[in-house]
Amino acid sequence: MDYNKKTVTDIDVKGKKVLCRCDFNVPQDKQTGAITDDKRIRAALPTLQYLLSQGAAVIACSHLGKPKGQVKPALTLAPVAERLQQLLGQDVIFASDSVGPDAQAKAAALQPGQVLLLENLRFEPGEEKNDPAFAKALADLAGADGVYVSDAFGTVHRAHASTAGVAAYLPAVSGYLIQKELEIIGGALAAPKRPLVAILGGSKVSSKIGVINNLLEIADTIIIGGGMAYTFSAAQGGKVGDSLLESDWMDYANEMVKKAEEKGVKLLLPVDTMVADAFAPDSNAKVVSAGEIPDGWQGLDIGPKTIELYTEAVANAGTVIWNGPMGVFEFPAFAVGTKAVAEALSKTDAITIVGGGDSAAAVEQLGYADKMTHISTGGGASLEFMEGKALPGVVCLLDR
Ligand code: ADP
Ligand code: MG
Repeated sequence: MDYNKKTVTDIDVKGKKVLCRCDFNVPQDKQTGAITDDKRIRAALPTLQYLLSQGAAVIACSHLGKPKGQVKPALTLAPVAERLQQLLGQDVIFASDSVGPDAQAKAAALQPGQVLLLENLRFEPGEEKNDPAFAKALADLAGADGVYVSDAFGTVHRAHASTAGVAAYLPAVSGYLIQKELEIIGGALAAPKRPLVAILGGSKVSSKIGVINNLLEIADTIIIGGGMAYTFSAAQGGKVGDSLLESDWMDYANEMVKKAEEKGVKLLLPVDTMVADAFAPDSNAKVVSAGEIPDGWQGLDIGPKTIELYTEAVANAGTVIWNGPMGVFEFPAFAVGTKAVAEALSKTDAITIVGGGDSAAAVEQLGYADKMTHISTGGGASLEFMEGKALPGVVCLLDR
């Protein structure tokens, strides 16, 4: 999917009200409600600051958590308004509803240079149902010459009122965050600097079918790691012990190996694996050859020979797309393979792209975040992008 969508700099916003869909779905302390990581709020600042500098009145909106169409006071965006105010260094007006009387009055009175944040969109059942009436009510807040800016990449794979429906009523463009995702991931998929190496891992083959299918069409090399590797190994007659195995997907795994051969795509599978006698951080561990995992043991990471093989495979890449950790990186003893791959990526001249929620978390946790070209801000959205699926929150934006 190659998108060429208008962005904030392609549209005049001076003196206009701009409805800006942000991703303020921040993690909070369960007890106190305090924001434990404000990365997503900080990520929204460039677009918001640009709009303000252009003389727009900004109506920011977002969802938070899963209130499922009901008002859940614990999921109010009020703490986000406060943090946004600190980060922007200017007042942020907060509306106690999203399209109700408070939002309407505050939006109507909003002046250029001011910021209004609406209450959690998912307090309204119309948001996730993409109800046209709710979408229209949101659009109406921006008035007759209003503009819609979409900057919540994490929700572009969902056709909700605030991510897609609203674009039927206002001229719709992307913000900087989405623009960057489209340029970098979209560019790598449509016209990659070659060779394109895709590293696929994570837990299950079944959750990565779409990604494997699509990347088999465009990559030069595909590297398989993580839990899904054992389904490939078992499909080739290997012994996988107690490792994660999806027996229903063994035929599929064999088909993929065959398809890769036919297409001339190099498909690399682990040659050794780090096995454990329990799924636990302090389990006993040893290295065995792939396909020779004894009963009572399970593979939790790739082994040292595989690390060498995979490190070599990425060394001369033009582009690397990585989705899915190489092992159970949450246990330090089994984060070795994931760390080695991250290290290898940090050393290449390749464009390096990390997508997927756990993969992004792994790269951050292991300290390689600033060494990558791009870490996608959307877990599910980046996966669907890599699957080649149309993203409703992007499709709805104006073409250039
Ligand atoms: P992403 O969110 O980046 O798309 P996934 O959700 O597919 O990634 O996979 C991440 C999970 O896969 C991690 O929680 C990790 O512990 C798990 N995982 C990786 N390797 C193994 C393995 N060998 N056995 C079991 N789980 C694994
Ligand atoms: Mg995940």
